[in-house]
Amino acid sequence: MISAPPGDGEDFFSSLEKVFSISENDIRVMIEDFHVEMGKGLFGDKSSLKMIPSFIDKPKGNEKGEFVALDLGGTNFRVLTVILDGKGNVTVPAASEFAIPRKHMRGTGVSLFDFIAGCVDTFLTENHIDRNKTHDLAFTFSFPVEQTSIAAGKLIAWTKGFTATGVQGRDVMVLLNEALKRIDIRCIHITALVNDTVGTLAAGSYSDPACDLGVIMGTGTNACYREALSNMEKLNVADRNGHMIVNIEWGNFDKVKPNAYDRSLDKTSVNPGAMYLEKMVSGMYLGEIARLVLMDLIGRELILVNKPHAAQYFQERGSFKTEDMSLIEGDKTGRLEGVTLFLERNGILNISLRDKTQFKRLCGIVSSRAARLGAAAISAVLTWMDPNLKDRHTVGIDGSLFEKHPGFSTKMTDVFKELYGQKSEKIALVHSKDGSGRGAAVIAAVAASSERNTKIN
Ligand code: ADP
Ligand code: MG
Repeated sequence: MISAPPGDGEDFFSSLEKVFSISENDIRVMIEDFHVEMGKGLFGDKSSLKMIPSFIDKPKGNEKGEFVALDLGGTNFRVLTVILDGKGNVTVPAASEFAIPRKHMRGTGVSLFDFIAGCVDTFLTENHIDRNKTHDLAFTFSFPVEQTSIAAGKLIAWTKGFTATGVQGRDVMVLLNEALKRIDIRCIHITALVNDTVGTLAAGSYSDPACDLGVIMGTGTNACYREALSNMEKLNVADRNGHMIVNIEWGNFDKVKPNAYDRSLDKTSVNPGAMYLEKMVSGMYLGEIARLVLMDLIGRELILVNKPHAAQYFQERGSFKTEDMSLIEGDKTGRLEGVTLFLERNGILNISLRDKTQFKRLCGIVSSRAARLGAAAISAVLTWMDPNLKDRHTVGIDGSLFEKHPGFSTKMTDVFKELYGQKSEKIALVHSKDGSGRGAAVIAAVAASSERNTKIN
């Protein structure tokens, strides 16, 4: 797939490293492009960054209350009860996680929302939640939504492998309400529709005022930040004082050049031509990129030679996952015993140390690019808010990729050091565990205490 000089694997790996490299200069160019796209998106011009208004500002930290929160992120669906004590502390007395069956992800919208309502029903029963009382509910829905108020918004397009019909262009709050009604759940009052990035920022800034960027690195990738209303030309509001959280939808940033593996992945995705950055950075795709590289190496007889079972196994789309990359890259044993175990589990036996080392190396090449691009995007938003990094910035990050991939966080921090030297110490990446769900409750509380509920005309 890539042109490499003939010769041994080393030549090929050098070309591979080049093809996946993101230099400091590439990052500086990317930051400039990112700023241009952000500006266009805020103005309402055509841009790969949608810059979606959330209709809510950061919390003050004194919000109080008890909420039910739903978190539909891409892979799992979570239902939680969340208590805010008004002093910056969030507790989660109950939480349940449900895997979303593929038939609902790719079936009809009605079946997807019926599944969601069914999970809420189970949660209420299992946790003995009083159905005679009304419970405020915040819905974290992590797909691009054109929000028209804090409690209403239409799905622009599915991402992360979802294709459920009849949802695009519809208000997801209405769909959720209808599904709850269909099974006669009357004790829920839906108060806020929240993007997962917005939830993450809200959760982070509820307890730490320096948190001004909310980032997701899980199934997909995205971020939000706090913008001055005076910069949001496209928003038709009378009062331009104050601030609002803006959901960037950065997964769709399209100014990073895809390589042959990216193009191949894109072609077979359910949304070709869209979400380029997400496809290079996030958990749903990294394993698949690594698999495409591996199959190229196998095809060139540079790895797993005379191992037909391995070739057959990895031929299957989705046979290699981002979780597997974490396991392989995290294997610090001299003989790569963890890699051996992983391969053996999949029926691939007697693999040489050289092959295992190459396998680990190719995973590192793919994940390093992802971490560097993620850090570049974070740098772009931070310098948009604070060009000379005068202030401290806490970046709240939620998502299993950031949490579990060994070295991802360090590789991102290295980029900040490269770009900003000592000033990079002002940037703190903080894992916001379940921030997207906890933060939805914070947003619901902000919404409840806010008199202003601006509507787009
Ligand atoms: P969501 O994005 O759906 O809200 P998560 O943040 O838990 O949920 O992200 C799930 C995704 O993270 C999975 O689809 C997978 O791609 C990736 N992932 C899960 N476990 C790991 C791991 N150990 N290492 C790297 N990536 C992982
Ligand atoms: Mg999530």
